[in-house]
Amino acid sequence: MREFRYERAADPAAAVALLADEPHGAFLGGGTNLVDLMKLGVATPDVLVDVRELASREVTELPDGGLRIGAGVPNADLAADRRVRERFPVLAQALLAGASGQLRNRATTGGNLLQRTRCGYFTDVTRPCNKRSPGTGCGALEGVHRNHAILGQTLEGPGTCVATHPSDMAVALLALDAVVRVLGPDGERSIPLAELHRLPGDDPSRDTTLRHGELITALDLPPLDLPSRYRKVRDRASFAFALVSIAAALRVEDGVVREVRLALGGVAHTPWRSRAAEQALVGQPATEESFAAAADAELAAATPLRDNTFKVPLTRNLVVRTLLELTGAAA
Ligand SMILES: Cc1cc2nc3c(=O)[nH]c(=O)nc-3n(C[C@H](O)[C@H](O)[C@H](O)COP(=O)(O)OP(=O)(O)OC[C@H]3O[C@@H](n4cnc5c(N)ncnc54)[C@H](O)[C@@H]3O)c2cc1C
Ligand code: SF4
Repeated sequence: MREFRYERAADPAAAVALLADEPHGAFLGGGTNLVDLMKLGVATPDVLVDVRELASREVTELPDGGLRIGAGVPNADLAADRRVRERFPVLAQALLAGASGQLRNRATTGGNLLQRTRCGYFTDVTRPCNKRSPGTGCGALEGVHRNHAILGQTLEGPGTCVATHPSDMAVALLALDAVVRVLGPDGERSIPLAELHRLPGDDPSRDTTLRHGELITALDLPPLDLPSRYRKVRDRASFAFALVSIAAALRVEDGVVREVRLALGGVAHTPWRSRAAEQALVGQPATEESFAAAADAELAAATPLRDNTFKVPLTRNLVVRTLLELTGAAA
């Protein structure tokens, strides 16, 4: 592992000031992803600015009935918070579907959002990977890509990348229309979660729209008055990343879909909001046929790879099954 400096700051503004002058520095949350990547030589920061104890570890009420989640809240505490379990069950379920109890105790809300892809070529410095070493190619495109993306990939050119975003929590937050609050060298700003993560485009090295030195301080959750749930399909029952996952919320009145939120995990470089499926569903009868038609509307854009075509029917089935379950709850 390369040598680096470890810094602690007095407050968030001081942490931001410390990193502003360090183009190759990084914030350190729980370290459960970043330190692993440093050991592998994938991440090589000169300086780590530890923000785990600095970022708020509180969940507080917002005046509109929503919640503010401090960036330092451990994943385990957030999943256990009674307000989250009762008012945002999709979020508690997504958190509990991720990693392991020990990791969730250590991992922070801010760090979870910014964890990097688990593509095996990205984490192996001897392999070609446009995300880790721009211009070297994408080993996964013709290699091992069973658990890679089926939507929104860049399939040719120097930006080629077919990786997926690994976070379960982020999928639920996307369906909840969460807003990310950041503090940077130029002050504070708010970013809708839907605008935080980015598709590979022509530069897969950038996962997000954050600028260098911007610290995530909190997440705001607007109130939710729909039944919601998270489902995750994976190769084994725990300690595995999603093959496909879904965060869904649904309102059904008189047998008709009045409101629906759908976000998918394991299918793209970002958590994937299923706008086409949502639009196809509103005003339709809450039936298996409508749910399948909505899933098909979303998946019409899918471009699966040689070994992950199975994700298309898997996603379709997951959408239908989850919406049927929610229809029961909504009724
Ligand atoms: C074996 C294993 C299995 C896992 N399984 C799952 C799973 O199934 N589902 C899942 O969702 N996750 C899974 N995880 C990932 C785990 O959830 C993440 O590693 C964790 O959430 C990252 O949080 P952290 O606080 O440790 O982040 P760190 O590792 O400290 O940081 C991650 C990134 O965020 C940046 N960062 C941290 N805090 C801030 C901040 N406040 N502002 C700006 N930047 C910041 C860091 O610079 C770094 O780039 C797994 C991890 C492991 C090791
Ligand atoms: S899919 Fe993306 S992360 Fe994986 S090898 Fe290709 S460029 Fe790298």
